[in-house]
Amino acid sequence: MSIDKQVVTPADIAKQVRGGFDSGRTRLLEWRASQLRRLRALLIERETELLDALASDLGKPAIESYVTEVAFTRAEIDLALANLDTWMSPEKVTVPLTQQPAKARIVREPLGAVLIIGPWNYPIQLVLAPLVAAIAAGNAAVIKPSEVAPASSRALAQLIPEYLDPECIAVAEGGVAETTALLAERWDHIFYTGNGTVGRVVLEAAAKHLTPVTLELGGKSPAIVDRHANVAVAAKRIAWGKFINAGQTCVAPDYVLVDRTLERPLLDALASAVHAFYGDNPRSNPDYGRIINDHHFTRLHGLLETGGVAVVGGVTDAADRYIAPTVLTEVVHAAPIMCEEIFGPLLPVIPVDDVDAAVDFVNAREKPLALYVFSEADSVAERIIETTSAGGVAVNATVLHVAVPGLPFGGVGASGTGTYHGRAGFETFSHAKSVLNRPTRLDVPVMYPPYRGWKQKLLRRLL
Ligand code: NAD
Repeated sequence: MSIDKQVVTPADIAKQVRGGFDSGRTRLLEWRASQLRRLRALLIERETELLDALASDLGKPAIESYVTEVAFTRAEIDLALANLDTWMSPEKVTVPLTQQPAKARIVREPLGAVLIIGPWNYPIQLVLAPLVAAIAAGNAAVIKPSEVAPASSRALAQLIPEYLDPECIAVAEGGVAETTALLAERWDHIFYTGNGTVGRVVLEAAAKHLTPVTLELGGKSPAIVDRHANVAVAAKRIAWGKFINAGQTCVAPDYVLVDRTLERPLLDALASAVHAFYGDNPRSNPDYGRIINDHHFTRLHGLLETGGVAVVGGVTDAADRYIAPTVLTEVVHAAPIMCEEIFGPLLPVIPVDDVDAAVDFVNAREKPLALYVFSEADSVAERIIETTSAGGVAVNATVLHVAVPGLPFGGVGASGTGTYHGRAGFETFSHAKSVLNRPTRLDVPVMYPPYRGWKQKLLRRLL
């Protein structure tokens, strides 16, 4: 369903899914499981349409789209289907002796009608994975894909009503005006993925209705290469995480802090890795993507021009929105490239004296969404984990922690609030309702006034 003022308004959509939720069917295990199975069928039967849309929006290689968008979402569905029963079961809690006889439990109830707003960089996965969690937890939902990836948004708007219960799950297309109108409605949860500036707009809108919010934001995620690192492997893993989707990944390593003694070997290894991955001319390599639009191309071009010396790449073509996989040295710390999230294929490499200097560098900035440590020394990795704060950490890896379903995914501080993936997503879209149940056959009067004599003594003894 698209938002067309003549046809259906954001208020209509909100009313419709609230009606779907109020029908009570989203609470049922059967409804949740059937919707998840239908979503799975959509991903399998209509994969080609989804991959074509992603190629049109981002020039993504089909296999990359399959792995990072389709297969990723399918894995979330399969995990939810396998665990729904357990996740939905009430959790028994011990009651203290002083309140016996009684039983206590935690019941996970759905929040209601929820709004999911997604960004353009993984335009399918980043609305569907939260949707999986919302459905698993028994909610009705509206997803609002990013207008910046129009083909993906259109594909979702066409396919979802064909597969899912249209009274409970809707797709709202549109840009700032439509999203603003959606945000003015009352929701039981808003799940937003995107930049922090809009995150503040979402928080303000949510405050009017006291609506809880999950913010999945970004930031400058550092990769620290310690002097004990396996440089050849580190370079390959950093280059892969950075240049996949042409650097437009929220958990891409934004910049590298390398032990000064390893700067030259790391730069050489990064050059070899980029060459091995994308050849002499990445531009004609089908495995390398493009920048999403002219606005971001111009922004990245500006960062490149003032960003330092390109030792790898540095080539751009505005007409094709192409920016080569680029590694930069001699980066000025106050340059724009080190003051905003890069979100493109430019990798500054900054030498530091030691691990402490790297930690100080990270801690002097906003808390990142991801932090990567490359070291063969466990003690070094542990020290960095203990002395820094980040949404998530991967040691000798980039990006992949996001694909471990048992690990909650989310930011901290400026990189976000709240988590999802697997059980964490189910919890995000549930209210943990406490229930205490006391039988009436015994009604000891010690709790009731008047509190005199023996009652006071007994209460002081027991509590
Ligand atoms: P975007 O421009 O597509 O915006 C995201 C959503 O916000 C869109 O649906 C858009 O319609 C809506 N929006 C934009 N302006 C708005 C406004 N003024 N009022 C209301 N809604 C508005 O995407 P983006 O923000 O450019 O995405 C990139 C950012 O997202 C990066 O910072 C990246 O790190 C972050 N990100 C985070 C994650 C994560 O999981 N933590 C994942 C992907 C991207």
